[in-house]
Amino acid sequence: MRTFVYVSAPDVPTAIQAVTTPGAKFLGGGTNLVDLMRQDIEHPTTVVDITRLPLSEVRAYENGVRIGALVRNSHLAAHPVIRSSYPLLSQAILHGASAQLRNMATVGGNLMQRTRCLYFYDTTAACNKRQPGSGCDALDGFNRNHAVLGTTDTCIASHPSDMCVALAALDATVEVESTRGVRRIPVTEFHRLPGDTPHVETALAPDELITAVDVPALPFAATCRYRKVRDRASYAFALVSVAAALQVVDGVVADVRLALGGVAAKPWRAYVAEELLRGAPATVETFRRAAEAELAPAVGRGHNDFKIELARRTIVATLGGLA
Ligand code: SF4
Repeated sequence: MRTFVYVSAPDVPTAIQAVTTPGAKFLGGGTNLVDLMRQDIEHPTTVVDITRLPLSEVRAYENGVRIGALVRNSHLAAHPVIRSSYPLLSQAILHGASAQLRNMATVGGNLMQRTRCLYFYDTTAACNKRQPGSGCDALDGFNRNHAVLGTTDTCIASHPSDMCVALAALDATVEVESTRGVRRIPVTEFHRLPGDTPHVETALAPDELITAVDVPALPFAATCRYRKVRDRASYAFALVSVAAALQVVDGVVADVRLALGGVAAKPWRAYVAEELLRGAPATVETFRRAAEAELAPAVGRGHNDFKIELARRTIVATLGGLA
């Protein structure tokens, strides 16, 4: 690990001022950044420790809940408001990582975690995300865990988060702050597809601090399921995951929220499927047609071809269970 300057920020203004230093990075739970620093993939000049900032509150209001960026994942999953009114979010978090990691990891850090592509972590491999312009060894390599939607020939990495898939389905908004002020970013626009710049992973500027996530209330939130398909029963990233909430009235889909994990460089909100589902009979045939339409543009790269059919089937099974 390379040497760096350590700053422990007592308040938000100090933190956002400290991170204006070129090469500075925020440190929350450290469950991803510290690993990346040890492996010489991230090498910040200054580490701004934000764990003392007053951003650890979960506050319910009339039409939603505000979650501080430093709320630990385990605390959020167990919070009575989240369990009762946002069970999809609680389920998704509990499907992620291990209990020990969830005890440390923060909401803001979860949003910022980087891909677990093996070639990204192997500093002898070509990786456009780690070193722009160097190539991508995953394209013709062992790409079983890689993305099938929204990819380009520059990068086929998948996003590792479970929590963010639920946030995408729930139309959450990320609030960020910098010396220029406060702005809000829909979580569906927070993470970026690779395009020609796979090293640019989010809409966040380097000097912006995530302060909170707002999740609007969903009237049919109770009829939800986060379903994760993975190689092991715990402590494994999703091959495919589905976050779904479904409202059926008189046998017809009145409303639906659907997002996929493990299939793209960002949590994939399934807008195409949602559009087909609303107003249609809540039948397996409808669910299958919607899943096929959503996965129609999917492209496999060999080892990950199976994900396309797996995603279709997981959507159908999840919606079928809810209906
Ligand atoms: Fe790097 Fe993306 Fe290719 Fe993985 S898939 S090696 S992260 S460029």
